[in-house]
Amino acid sequence: MKVTRAKCAGACYGVQRALNMALDTASEGSRAVTLGPLIHNPQVVAQLAERGIRAVENPNQAVEGSVIIRSHGVTPQVRREIEARGLPVVDATCPHVARAQKAAAKLARECGRVVVVGEAGHPEVEGLVAYAREAGGEVHVAGRAVDVPASLSGKVGVVVQTTQTREAFEEVLAALRDRGVECVVKDTVCLATRERQESAADLAREVDAMIVIGGRNSSNT
Ligand code: SF4
Repeated sequence: MKVTRAKCAGACYGVQRALNMALDTASEGSRAVTLGPLIHNPQVVAQLAERGIRAVENPNQAVEGSVIIRSHGVTPQVRREIEARGLPVVDATCPHVARAQKAAAKLARECGRVVVVGEAGHPEVEGLVAYAREAGGEVHVAGRAVDVPASLSGKVGVVVQTTQTREAFEEVLAALRDRGVECVVKDTVCLATRERQESAADLAREVDAMIVIGGRNSSNT
């Protein structure tokens, strides 16, 4: 078989950065836990565990060493819980995610109501929702046009999960605008995601079959 690799593939900048930060922590001899798996890749998670970096589900399970915040970021409440435990924090929140969190809070203050375009329940989306709520906003999550609440009207802030497809983002925006909603938009789709999506689409046009290698629970996959 002839095998062609996509032009853009592999761990993105934010995940690679988080991995490097975790490995630096391990090489300094510090024990550490990550809040959730650092990457959607069981082999890499197992290698980190061998180096003393375990994944835990919540801050209460962190009893010693550093707590690594992964690239998805955490809610402000979880950040406070970690700080209250008095353990050193290694904040590997991807700078693009941090920018989306700030945008969500700013839109909440400016518009009062915010739509987060993304996958309900995803840790990054939970963070965006929490930042917007903490800033006093009424928040809705919409993955597709059908998720847009009929009650929305007037001025609404719109922010998007970094790994969403442009199609989903535009579909939700169109649904809001069709209802006469005035949208104040922060386009926080990540360039790394866009490049990988476009690369996959380009390659799909050229080949007979495609294999996507990635974690089943990864939005990027
Ligand atoms: S925002 Fe982009 S670079 Fe950052 S972790 Fe997500 S996909 Fe990776």
